[in-house]
Amino acid sequence: RAGAQADPYHTREWVYAQGGLMPLRVRLTLWYGTALALILLTFSVVLYTITARSLRDQVDESLQETASAAVRSLETRGFLPLIDEDALLSQFPELTRIDKFFQIFSPTGTITIRSPNIRQHDVPLSRPALEAAFTGSTVFESARYPNEPPLRLVSVPIIYRGSLLYIVQVGTTLEGVEETLRRFLLVLLVMAPIALVVSLVGGWFLAGRALRPVDSITVAAQRIAAGDLTQRLHSERSTDEIGRLTDTFNNMIARLETSFAQIRQFSSDASHELRTPLTVMKGESELVLRRPRPVEDYIAVLESNLEEIDRMSRIVEELLFLSRADMGQVKTECEPVRLEALVEDIQRQACLLGQEREIDVIMGTIQPATVRGDELRLRELILNLVDNAVKYSHPRGKVEIDLRVEGATARLAVRDYGIGIPQDAHKQIFDRFFRTDDARAHTKKGTGLGLAICAWIADAHHGHIDVQSEVGKGSTFTLVLPLAPAAA
Ligand code: ADP
Repeated sequence: RAGAQADPYHTREWVYAQGGLMPLRVRLTLWYGTALALILLTFSVVLYTITARSLRDQVDESLQETASAAVRSLETRGFLPLIDEDALLSQFPELTRIDKFFQIFSPTGTITIRSPNIRQHDVPLSRPALEAAFTGSTVFESARYPNEPPLRLVSVPIIYRGSLLYIVQVGTTLEGVEETLRRFLLVLLVMAPIALVVSLVGGWFLAGRALRPVDSITVAAQRIAAGDLTQRLHSERSTDEIGRLTDTFNNMIARLETSFAQIRQFSSDASHELRTPLTVMKGESELVLRRPRPVEDYIAVLESNLEEIDRMSRIVEELLFLSRADMGQVKTECEPVRLEALVEDIQRQACLLGQEREIDVIMGTIQPATVRGDELRLRELILNLVDNAVKYSHPRGKVEIDLRVEGATARLAVRDYGIGIPQDAHKQIFDRFFRTDDARAHTKKGTGLGLAICAWIADAHHGHIDVQSEVGKGSTFTLVLPLAPAAA
């Protein structure tokens, strides 16, 4: 029953619940929305304040202009007391503008005269304005009466020969300004939320679009995690971030797929290589035990078994080396190594190898060459190449070793005239357990691991191995190593 239910641990809801996380799409939209709301709010407040300030400034400016005009007119009349309103209005046509009223106060603060458009109620002179008038300064002030729009007033003192004659006050209602600001505020209050909602919807949609490839990557990754390494992501756009992620992901899966295939191949090869000698040993032992036999038979079987055991130990040892090398646990020294001395030494050893089948191991041109590296590993490498050359030579054949210096490299060539390697196998011979059919037919010896180890050692010394070979004619393996800096 449990199997039939959906896996509760890999649903999105489960993942979000674990991390206490909201889906990225929601978070992106919320961040975006909050930022936008803050921007809109700041923007609206600033805009409103600036507009209100400049509207009020305009009113003050126009009041000031009107008041100055009145003062100038009074001056031309020689500051005579003004009693008759009609005479005054004919004197000062600029004071009849309907949107403004004016009053003229005596220095005691009582109204001497006022324009007709203020008759509904009294607008007395405020104390601060009166006090300021005695010091000769102009005062702007706002006044508010119940059920009426606020008023804006300017009071200008007229001083003649050091004494205060009158105070001219010009006022106007702020109704227009208030109305404009109210409408402006309304527009802001309606438009800002609409703009916010519209862009939140847009943001939600865009975040969804941008994140959709991430979802498909997740789904593919889940399938891959379930063991299906053939899965790939479709990439339409390969230049943007998602495209690059997709490509990287696909490359990674491709490499994983190859290395899993290699591991599978390797395990099956390894078990096969180990099973063969075991089968041989088991068969021979069972056969010889079936009935009593002369001692020589037992000796022969034990000798043959020993041979197989040797082979198996070699395989296991070589495998161990390769796996330690894979894990980076094999250390290589970095000492100067004189290759010509090493080669001479190996040649003596190799002569013994070839003795059985009368194969001569001879030295050709030997130039002195010093490289930096691990003498033991280099010896193992060269011995392996020479051993292969002897192994795959025909009886009474010849193996030549050359050591030359070319530019900044030492080139050590091991040439034989044996079975050769088909062209298409030149690369594969460095793979683990790879052996050509000819090689299997030619000799039982060999594990197919030797060249893999050689290639690893050459690589660890920043060098490589070249192969030239023709089936039936022989092979040349050339080890190319950089010379030690002092000798180069
Ligand atoms: P092996 O233990 O089988 O020699 P190697 O890794 O040393 O394993 O070599 C891999 C394969 O490369 C051999 O099985 C053989 O097919 C081929 N090979 C290597 N050296 C030679 C050579 N000198 N002549 C012909 N074939 C060779």
